[in-house]
Amino acid sequence: MVNLEQNYDVIIAGAGAAGCYAALHLPANLRVLLLSKREATLCNSALAQGGIAGVWNSPGDNIELHANDTRIAGAFTNNPKTLQILVSEAAQDIEQLVEYGVDFDKNEDGDYDRTLEGGHCRRRIFHYRDSTGAEILRGLLAQTRNLPNVTISEFTVMSRAMQTETGFSVELLRDNTFTTVDCHFLIMATGGIGRVYEYTTNSAIATGDGIRIAYELGARIKNLSLIQFHPTAFNNKHTRECFLISEAVRGEGAYLRNCNMERFMQRYDDRLELAPRDVVSHAIILESRRTGSNDFWIDISHKDPEEVKARFPKIYNKLLEQGYDLTKEPVPIYPCQHYLMGGIDVNSNAQTRVDRLYACGECAHTGVHGSNRLASNSLLEALVFSRRAAQEIAKESEDITPRFARGEFKPVTATEPIPHGIRTELRKILQENYFVIPNTENLPNAYNRITELIQLIACEDWKMDLDYLEAKSQATCAYLILEEQL
Ligand SMILES: Cc1cc2nc3c(=O)[nH]c(=O)nc-3n(C[C@H](O)[C@H](O)[C@H](O)COP(=O)(O)OP(=O)(O)OC[C@H]3O[C@@H](n4cnc5c(N)ncnc54)[C@H](O)[C@@H]3O)c2cc1C
Repeated sequence: MVNLEQNYDVIIAGAGAAGCYAALHLPANLRVLLLSKREATLCNSALAQGGIAGVWNSPGDNIELHANDTRIAGAFTNNPKTLQILVSEAAQDIEQLVEYGVDFDKNEDGDYDRTLEGGHCRRRIFHYRDSTGAEILRGLLAQTRNLPNVTISEFTVMSRAMQTETGFSVELLRDNTFTTVDCHFLIMATGGIGRVYEYTTNSAIATGDGIRIAYELGARIKNLSLIQFHPTAFNNKHTRECFLISEAVRGEGAYLRNCNMERFMQRYDDRLELAPRDVVSHAIILESRRTGSNDFWIDISHKDPEEVKARFPKIYNKLLEQGYDLTKEPVPIYPCQHYLMGGIDVNSNAQTRVDRLYACGECAHTGVHGSNRLASNSLLEALVFSRRAAQEIAKESEDITPRFARGEFKPVTATEPIPHGIRTELRKILQENYFVIPNTENLPNAYNRITELIQLIACEDWKMDLDYLEAKSQATCAYLILEEQL
């Protein structure tokens, strides 16, 4: 483990696309600590398959069309100011990725092979096979590791934070030991909240820690109940993390089938399998009620096997490991939690209402997505607004004094672990009550039970280990989601 200083100018909690990109845009004279809860490659950014949307040297496309598609997907509830920034600054950040050495697929003419996804009226998705996120993160981490002013600390959990007169004191859990580090600026880039659900496409780090800590610091949390459910996650029923079968597979002609192996989308939407993901998720739940079965399949076995393998190598190999050959047979799928549109409320420079506290990436709410995210807009949002956070900190840091105040965290000496099963119950409550079609009748009961669990977590002096911290974050997020719905 790297040695840590007592203080840094900036602490960035999260080393996914948003955290790394912020670090890369901070001035070189600022000392930066970049945290990752586990290994830096374990995050939602690394899982992104489809690509990153943007208008960059794209004849026949323009930023108004991109903005319009985003508005349609978002049911016209998007924030007009941040949306305009997103689409108009996309080109500079995609170009920057290329300068960092990120590889995007090209066609035979040497031009970028932009692809199409549901809800986009033009081919504007830059992608690297079906592993775009991993390729972007590879490039960003490689650049970040070269920065002499940035210390990357993996396996380091931000557990608590408090405001001081000069910024923040941040408590970190490393190797079962707590350390306090002070900073002038704190950036939350902790990603999504998928682990609040039983079934999610999100990585294990997605427990909403940054949202919980920002809430404790007094930041406004907005639209946490705006959650996107992806219709086609691989359903192997044995693991919480559901491997995503990208929308692009339906884009290439895959059919959806019910428990009787019949196509069924014609009952629900004229666009059939190409309807937006929320419509398809909805249709699957209604169809499961009609047939009385949760068995659903995605089927692309009628397409050329070599083309399917070449276009979706990661998905093909991953499914093969699970015993399914995508080119030959239908594969079981079911909707699951995928993406959070809401989060820590920020302005167009990623500033929260707490002085010197910033948030970017999936944990932040910029309002760009409105009530539903357009495919491939989230990596873009992570880049555009983390860069803007860094640029704003660059300006603000000109006025800071070199002094660092230190806050004292209440020591926790308890050794009793939190009761077994709390996290399982939390996930079950959300899964059963606030999934694709909310169980509105039972929401008050669900909310009351979450409130009891929060009190149980808070009232006793439990051992402050990772299990406790994540349970606290998950309970806070579950509470804020249901509170918005009552
Ligand atoms: C399967 C899948 C496919 C997707 N496909 C696409 C796509 O094709 N296009 C697209 O635009 N978007 C896609 N998305 C969404 C997109 O990947 C994410 O929204 C985006 O990558 C989030 O980036 P981030 O930096 O905010 O979070 P992440 O990449 O998740 O990074 C979060 C970081 O925070 C750290 N962290 C968390 N808690 C703590 C803590 N307490 N202490 C210290 N560190 C902490 C983690 O360790 C991690 O480093 C997909 C998401 C998934 C799950």
